Amino acid sequence: QKFVYDFSEGNKDLKDLLGGKGANLAEMTNLGLPVPPGFTITTEACKAYLASGQVPPRLQDEVSRHLAALEERMGKKLGQADDPLLVSVRSGAKFSMPGMMDTVLNIGLSDESVHGLAAQSGDERFAWDSYRRLIQMFGDTVLGIDGERFSETLEEAKSARGAATDVDLTADALKDLVQKFKNIVSEETGRDFPQDPREQMDLAIRAVFDSWNGSRARLYRRQERIPHDLGTAVNICSMVFGNLGPDSGTGVAFTRDPASGQQGVYGDYLQNAQGEDVVAGIRNTVPLADLEQLDKASYDQLMRIMETLENHYRDLCDIEFTIERGKLWMLQTRVGKRTAAAAFRIATQLVDQGLIDEAEALRRVNGNQLAQLMFPRFDSNGGLEGADQIGWGIAASPGAAVGKAVFDSYTAIKWSRSGEKVILVRRETNPDDLDGMIAAEGILTSRGGKTSHAAVVARGMGKTCVCGAEELEVDTKRRCLKTADGRVVEEGDVLSIDGSTGKVYAGEVPVVPSPVVEYFEGRMHAGADDADELVRAVHRIMAYADRVRRLRVRANADNAEDAARARRFGAQGIGLCRTEHMFLGERRELVERLILADTDTERDQALGALLPLQKGDFVELFESMDGLPVTVRLLDPPLHEFLPDITELSVRVALAESRKDANENDLRLLQAVHRLHEQNPMLGLRGVRLGLVIPGLFTMQIRAIAQAAAERRASGGDPRAEIMIPLVGTVQELEIVREEAEQVIAEIERERDVELGLSLGTMIELPRAALTAGQIAECADFFSFGTNDLTQTVWAFSRDDVEASFFTAYLEKGIFGVSPFETIDKDGVGSLVRSAAEAGRATRPDLKLGVCGEHGGDPESVHFFHEVGLDYVSCSPFRIPVARLEAGRAAA
Ligand code: ADP
Ligand code: MG
Ligand code: MG
Repeated sequence: QKFVYDFSEGNKDLKDLLGGKGANLAEMTNLGLPVPPGFTITTEACKAYLASGQVPPRLQDEVSRHLAALEERMGKKLGQADDPLLVSVRSGAKFSMPGMMDTVLNIGLSDESVHGLAAQSGDERFAWDSYRRLIQMFGDTVLGIDGERFSETLEEAKSARGAATDVDLTADALKDLVQKFKNIVSEETGRDFPQDPREQMDLAIRAVFDSWNGSRARLYRRQERIPHDLGTAVNICSMVFGNLGPDSGTGVAFTRDPASGQQGVYGDYLQNAQGEDVVAGIRNTVPLADLEQLDKASYDQLMRIMETLENHYRDLCDIEFTIERGKLWMLQTRVGKRTAAAAFRIATQLVDQGLIDEAEALRRVNGNQLAQLMFPRFDSNGGLEGADQIGWGIAASPGAAVGKAVFDSYTAIKWSRSGEKVILVRRETNPDDLDGMIAAEGILTSRGGKTSHAAVVARGMGKTCVCGAEELEVDTKRRCLKTADGRVVEEGDVLSIDGSTGKVYAGEVPVVPSPVVEYFEGRMHAGADDADELVRAVHRIMAYADRVRRLRVRANADNAEDAARARRFGAQGIGLCRTEHMFLGERRELVERLILADTDTERDQALGALLPLQKGDFVELFESMDGLPVTVRLLDPPLHEFLPDITELSVRVALAESRKDANENDLRLLQAVHRLHEQNPMLGLRGVRLGLVIPGLFTMQIRAIAQAAAERRASGGDPRAEIMIPLVGTVQELEIVREEAEQVIAEIERERDVELGLSLGTMIELPRAALTAGQIAECADFFSFGTNDLTQTVWAFSRDDVEASFFTAYLEKGIFGVSPFETIDKDGVGSLVRSAAEAGRATRPDLKLGVCGEHGGDPESVHFFHEVGLDYVSCSPFRIPVARLEAGRAAA
């Protein structure tokens, strides 16, 4: 297999071998577009180099042959003294990666050939400008010299000569600068800047290879789960020059607006410039549309090429181009990044243009984009006009938040208890800030990136967060925030933060609900004349996803209101109805009586009082989900959660005792609290264990469900209740509960003379349950994988403890790219889900399989559940559209 491909030999599907840049350069070459000739060194060559630590001789030969062919074709040799061929050496992996060496331009220039270039071009200034760029880029990226040294020297040269920008430097000034740059190289590396053009090229190639294993690149790959063994390709591309005067220039363009999806002319152009100048912001660019005036022929040609590319790639493309003395050259293209809204719009536009079909449109969008579109946001129709932006940080967790600035968690909690909305502002957050973060509308930090504590925890809580707003100075002592221009935001002043753009505003910016949510809620219709294009696009793509998906989507909903919303959002039932809230509020007193009961009679009385209340709850719920399955989980949390806090109660009793008026009930309560106190409640008396040791508890719940179902039936409804037992570890537990349940149900069916068709199943949320799923299935009509607890128990992570304490460190070290509570850990937790599903179905082929737990609304996890063959996923009402979309994508 060969190590080097001419641009004319590759194509866009060879990204594994040629990298993204190389594959697309080849594709454009073969489309007949004007690409400067060159060749690509494959990722295989990189792997061979990295494995052996040296450039394979075969690679060296192939490079020599391709270089010779290029020289032949261009009619000049690399670095030839009187007329040098110059090339760029450009890295290009399959995925673009921060931390990798990028590009060195103008390779082949030397003290000698710079004169040749000047003579050939008739432009001495241009030649010296190109040479100083080479030394600068080469010194920085290949020789590892701090780039600051060069840029500072450049700035000094500019101010010494009164030059406003780099184009104002004369040939002599640049000649002088080259000498200074060369001195920097000698000083920093102990040797002179290499004069042999082939040596320059070989060193640059090796530097690209080596950068694959740079620490930043490795970290990035670990976090993004990109395999370490892909390697990078290297492109050698003959130079074209945008810095040859005003009839030259360089630019970037998009085939349509990456923000809105609209077709049109989007991009920036910079005259008399090379390479990165456009994006580096060293001089002001002009809008691409202005190129029409500057160079009509090139502009027209570029427009034609953009159309060709879009029709060919059938997608939005972004482009890098250069014009050399009126001749247009294409330097790069790829399918371009876009905003969430643009992704939906573009996908349906392309369907309408006949470029892609609906299945492809569905693949072109994703659930994370849809979730982004569902956050409330600042009103971009006027609301942001005049908004007072004071800073800009990293968009860490989306949404729009408005509140009074507070600078410590204590104040956040205090103010929010008294009904104020607050934004918690910190330099960075730590585990002590957790309660403050919960109390705040949003979080703003001046330090830290996407994996900082604030970012991770805020995303986990679904809270708006902007982090790393570095130009804002947070002074926690004086409780204020200083902006770059010296303004001060005091505690109590209102701030607005935009977690989708990272912008920070002083004062209140109006928030509007997302039109996409208005649509799902049924308050905006996709068919209406004034429906916006985004809503129409979402509607079409969702309809298609629903048509093709195999997974059903249910909601986690505990009350009729959530159930009704879930139904509007497309839920096909309830996958998890928690019942703990049915024991709270005014009913807490009955629960206390139940726990304190000394006799069967006392206990039965307490249960008897709870029964009609809970039956009423179920009637409402079954009514709002009429005709659809409702899985009710029997009581799960430890009992102490229903009793007073141990410290508060102890203090109260102690005080009362000192006044000698301790109340009998409080004393008994305190005893009970002590008795029920647990070191690790998560692993203590909860779930089915409660049902087995507190006589009558589960039967009361089951009776309430059965009675409610019977009542709904009697009034013509179609209740479909499923009773779910939590935290089962062994089939024996389930057998006992099942026997009791069947008796109760049979009794009520006899009394009311109905068949209720209730089914009874279990959660699979303990490793032992997953490992013995074959046995458990003998006693269960369905399994629902409780992946939250299963993740906790498989990893031995207590979620409440670990997320705030060491997850940031784990993410930074790349031990996982996302929290296993966010995306299912396929290799560990997921493999238990897979094997339990298989074992369960082997015992009972009609076993219904679902998942409840946050993973049910996570895009990547939904694909996994589709793949292992579950029947449904269940998630919170707001995630239902995301789950529907991803279930469709998994099947499309
Ligand atoms: P990146 O991946 O960072 O965009 P590139 O390899 O695309 O790196 O190159 C950086 C800049 O140099 C881009 O603006 C590109 O268009 C320009 N460039 C690269 N090769 C050449 C060349 N042969 N002639 C002119 N400009 C080039
Ligand atoms: Mg580029
Ligand atoms: Mg659980």
